[in-house]
Amino acid sequence: MKGEKFINPSRIPSIWCPGCGNGIVLHSVLTALEELNYTKDNVIFVSGIGCSSRSSTYTIFDNIHTLHGRAIPIATAIKLVRPDKKVIVMTGDGDSLAIGGNHIIHAARRNIDLTVIIFNNSIYGMTGGQFSPLTPSGKRATTSQFGNIENQFDAMKLLQGAGATYLARIGTYFFTQMTRYIKTALQHEGFGVVEAITQCPVYYGRLNKMATPSDMLLWQKDNLVFKDRLSQSNIEGMDEKLLIGEFVNLNAPSYLQKRKALLERI
Ligand code: SF4
Repeated sequence: MKGEKFINPSRIPSIWCPGCGNGIVLHSVLTALEELNYTKDNVIFVSGIGCSSRSSTYTIFDNIHTLHGRAIPIATAIKLVRPDKKVIVMTGDGDSLAIGGNHIIHAARRNIDLTVIIFNNSIYGMTGGQFSPLTPSGKRATTSQFGNIENQFDAMKLLQGAGATYLARIGTYFFTQMTRYIKTALQHEGFGVVEAITQCPVYYGRLNKMATPSDMLLWQKDNLVFKDRLSQSNIEGMDEKLLIGEFVNLNAPSYLQKRKALLERI
């Protein structure tokens, strides 16, 4: 299986529940790395806290499993001192957009050369199923038993506004397309983010009438709409649906390119 050579067998089995989508996202990242000929020596993973943030610890790559929400500043520091390394942040929706929300918008503004994979399971899984900034309005979590009354972020719009130069959203149902977007993000110079919609059957699924992992994948099939294939018929009822695809792919000077130019000038 592609990407398998990057798994650290001594760390298996994972802590993930049966049917969790985190393994699909990790498999996609490792497949992309193998297809782009990355090796153990030129990649560093940084992750925060949460079920998805455990992903990097299952690999043979150098990795830092750091404080909740703080993966991006640590990844930034690593990239500044080791610009030759591919630095990848593995983070959840709560980790990146709640406690880490401040860091991610400034990383986007700086266009710092990082690849960020946001595992969006719409909930805090590890800490018991609380709602996160990406829990859709009206949906149930353990802390919103009667429906979430907060509005959710649209991570793509938020990060586009903040200045990210590569942005894509996709779901675990679309593995091949996910791997393609991750490969593009890895090759991108600047701040690249792939939001991976993934299933947490244990909390989000059970609380929202999707009893099994396959129910959650079928929900993705029916409700994730490629933005380039949007037609009048599927715009109707869009409130339950979510746009996927590439949202931003810009060539703009990255932080490291600007820093290099500055150092040459002075
Ligand atoms: Fe996956 Fe949810 Fe279990 Fe966490 S709690 S491992 S996100 S299924």
